[in-house]
Amino acid sequence: MNVSLRPRRRPRARRTLAALSTVALGLTGLSLTACSADSTDDDAAGDTLSVAASFYPIQYLAEAIGGDNVTVTSITPTNVEPHDYELAPKDVTALSSTDLVAYVPGFQPSLDDALAEVAGPTVVDLSEAVDLVPHDGVEHDDEADGAHESTQADDGADAATTDPHFWLDPVRMQSAAQAIETALAQADPDHAADYQANLAELTEALGGLDADFSTGLAQCERTTFVAAHAAFGYLAERYGLTQASVSGVDPESEPSPAELATVKQVVQETGTTTIFTEELVSPKTAEALAAETGATTAVLNPLESAPESGDYADAMSANLQALRTALACE
Ligand SMILES: [Zn+2]
Repeated sequence: MNVSLRPRRRPRARRTLAALSTVALGLTGLSLTACSADSTDDDAAGDTLSVAASFYPIQYLAEAIGGDNVTVTSITPTNVEPHDYELAPKDVTALSSTDLVAYVPGFQPSLDDALAEVAGPTVVDLSEAVDLVPHDGVEHDDEADGAHESTQADDGADAATTDPHFWLDPVRMQSAAQAIETALAQADPDHAADYQANLAELTEALGGLDADFSTGLAQCERTTFVAAHAAFGYLAERYGLTQASVSGVDPESEPSPAELATVKQVVQETGTTTIFTEELVSPKTAEALAAETGATTAVLNPLESAPESGDYADAMSANLQALRTALACE
């Protein structure tokens, strides 16, 4: 191909030969500016990559990296708890006409099933990039009183033993961002330079968040916090904290009396003064536990849906403040 073609002199050639613009972008940073300034040409017509993210944190990453070159939708509707979200037939149909789907297997079995059925989208499995591991609270189904629960443990070993909540660890979010950038650049090489630039910016912002958490949680009176459900295992591990939770990994599951007794004991032994609740789950049990132990309640957002105001970074900063208050950090 004619690499010496100068796109700025021959804009028509650039429009007709889309592939050449990639070459041009690689050659000079100036053409990148020229390209976005020229957005009046029909670059956008039908060219936008459609991305379906399984739920909010992945949607946030895809939007930040994809910018104007992608149209991102969340498969789980806003304000719907994504654990065990059941896709409607129309969701499955919509998936088949999507260019790219980004998700974590094991978190939403109904989506796993749908993706096994649909042909068409490029499927981006983020689980390897974010290095999912088991955490306490995720395995609580298997404990001593659970003889009658044993079928649950046989049901998909991965989902039962690894913790899906990688997005509450900013460092794992950086890895997920990298994986999404790679997938977008492969699917839409014409805009690879945009994706790379957006990734760099996002990686820096997430790095800043990580630094804030490290500093903000370094000197605290307590290190154990009580969450509504076991979503904060990666966060706890990253910043040297210990998570206890009212419910296990599934926010909808009611804790057994034995589990409640265990959490109550943790609250009393660690001098915990705050029981965390979350927006999409009834605070009833957490409030009862707080009342019994003389603690108060506060919100810690597991970011399983878009926050009511602001975005992921804002909600994570609010989480940091909530933890600092609860743990009496300096
Ligand atoms: Zn969760």
